[in-house]
Amino acid sequence: MDFDKVEVPEEGERITADEDGNLEVPEEPIIPIIHGDGIGTDVGPAAQKVLEAAAQATGRDIHWMRLYAGESAREMYDDNLPDDTVEAIREFRVAIKGPLTTPVGSGFRSLNVALRKKLDLYTNMRPTYHLDGVPSPMKAPEQMDMVNFRENTEDVYAGIEWEAGTEEVEQVREFVEDEMGFEGAIHEGPVGIGIKPISEFGTKRLVRQAIDYALENDRDSVTLVHKGNIMKFTEAAFRDWGYEVAEEEYGEEVITEDTLWEERDGDAPEDAVVVNDRIADNMLQQLLTRTDQYDVLAMPNLNGDYLSDAAGAQIGGLGIAPGGNIGEGRFLAEPVHGSAPKYEGQDKVNPSAMILSGRIMLEHMGWEDAGQLVRDAVEETIRSKQVTYDIHRQIEGGEKLATSEFAEKVVENIESLA
Ligand code: NAP
Repeated sequence: MDFDKVEVPEEGERITADEDGNLEVPEEPIIPIIHGDGIGTDVGPAAQKVLEAAAQATGRDIHWMRLYAGESAREMYDDNLPDDTVEAIREFRVAIKGPLTTPVGSGFRSLNVALRKKLDLYTNMRPTYHLDGVPSPMKAPEQMDMVNFRENTEDVYAGIEWEAGTEEVEQVREFVEDEMGFEGAIHEGPVGIGIKPISEFGTKRLVRQAIDYALENDRDSVTLVHKGNIMKFTEAAFRDWGYEVAEEEYGEEVITEDTLWEERDGDAPEDAVVVNDRIADNMLQQLLTRTDQYDVLAMPNLNGDYLSDAAGAQIGGLGIAPGGNIGEGRFLAEPVHGSAPKYEGQDKVNPSAMILSGRIMLEHMGWEDAGQLVRDAVEETIRSKQVTYDIHRQIEGGEKLATSEFAEKVVENIESLA
């Protein structure tokens, strides 16, 4: 495709995929990057330097292709999410982005949600593990080593909603009350109404991805997190379809918790993944009280949003929490945090979340050695107490670094660890 305003780097090759969506990654791939809004202008370039250093230290290279979304795109294209950006990620398959601002209430809808939907990046994956030296409110933060799989395209995030006071919302009210038999279920007066679709298709592909990940990475369990006791036809359906995947699509390597106890007295076959389920509110407290019992979680969109932020807080907060979005033959890395506009352009915030999102990207590309180097170098930098403000304010002593200085230290550590 011809791009309108962005340029494809002259050097470097494209990542391709086979018909099953497995990536084929050259030694010098072209990787699109969106720095993002607010603090994205600081953490984006910082991550770029670190990832490039890790690629070079393992005998490869990355050729970056700058893309624009949010404020930078409005200046260039007069559009929040230009076709150039969406199509380049579609075509180049693996990309990384910083945070994008979403106005609350009025204004445009989330660009992050739009990007995930347009590219059908149906899973948001958030590994949550503790790095040595990162302050945490927990007594034993190292007990957490979880990977959250959050459905990305449906649930109340589908964007099907109507504003109070509009003709449309009154039509929906009438339909729900008169035709669907829920008379009196909605209070009189102004009301906003949203729809929560949870499909068999959307659930099963998400749960499949979580189970595959657990099998490939020697994990012990996959927990389906739902609120099915209250929302029987959406959240309980998520649980039931999730169990169907576990029971019907895998052999002995996957076993449900019920079968495990009913047929094997709790004795799991060696290397098997146990699939169980928890109600979301219980899960939120188990995260705190039984942290080490959870491994891989699979969740509908809203549960996943709340739960992965809460889990992130237990291992040190938004400054270090990484994430990635997965679709068929596509991957878009992005940190969990937002654009924190009050810190924009101050070269102040922690770039670790964006750097560690890049680590997930490298591993997704099959560059496990480069990914491990990134993780080790970030950990080493924090362990030596050379940290940004967010960590500095929570530890005794230590050296407070700017975003760019922290990235330089990580690069130095990559070079000495390689
Ligand atoms: P936020 O941008 O994540 O910031 C909330 C707070 O978290 C900051 O004030 C800061 O806390 C801390 N924080 C975030 N990133 C940090 C970093 N890299 N290093 C250190 N501390 C960090 O959340 P928000 O203020 O709710 O959202 C701002 C905008 O971002 C909104 O428009 C929202 O829609 C958008 N957003 C975008 C994404 C995305 O692009 N994927 C995700 C979430 C939110 P302290 O001030 O206490 O130090």
